Amino acid sequence: MGRAHHIEDYLEVIYFLANPIGEYGPVVTDGPVPAARVAEMLQVTPPTAGEMLKRLEKEGLIKRGARRGALLTDEGQELAEKVVRQHRIIERFLTDFLGYSPAESHVYADEMGDAFNDDMIERLSEQLGGPDRCPHGWPVDPAFEREENPSLQPLSTVPVGSRATVVRLAEHEGDLLHWFYDNGYPPTTELTVDRVDDAAEMLSVTVGDESRSISTHAASGLFVRVD
Ligand SMILES: [Zn+2]
Repeated sequence: MGRAHHIEDYLEVIYFLANPIGEYGPVVTDGPVPAARVAEMLQVTPPTAGEMLKRLEKEGLIKRGARRGALLTDEGQELAEKVVRQHRIIERFLTDFLGYSPAESHVYADEMGDAFNDDMIERLSEQLGGPDRCPHGWPVDPAFEREENPSLQPLSTVPVGSRATVVRLAEHEGDLLHWFYDNGYPPTTELTVDRVDDAAEMLSVTVGDESRSISTHAASGLFVRVD
């Protein structure tokens, strides 16, 4: 990645980690978000993340909970919701109007976030016909996103023999996001889990009549609904 991260990127990550997907949320935490997880997701060093969290705290966007973990304040929550919603609308603009691929749109939307004011975002959303989701399946409405979270789970936690539908793709790893598209796992993909090999950290799945292998790591970034 290599680019400097803004306050918005931190809010997005804290918001993501603070809202577990799936009943038991094995990939995310409940309660205060550890600084180490924030650093890991943004691919920065813990001291870098620590400095930015201090700044967020000073600006009243987070407070510190157990073990100095980050909790969004009301103001931080409001700003985080605005940032994720805006990001998802801009992604749709990039794919629907400008013809970028879904994987490209995520990176460019991060870069373009500051270019639009609130009114432009509302106009954009209207011109796009009020999209429900970003190209990667994340709901534009953060309240609906949180409501939907418990009904989804990472593919890596789905029991053998289950049928599932891909609803959202993890966006924070650029290479992985490209991999999902290059290997045929866009949202709405239907699949069956045939085998889980814990030692090899691989899953075997069937998509249509095709057998495929997927690493546990990649599968942990596919948020699915079990049929
Ligand atoms: Zn997206």
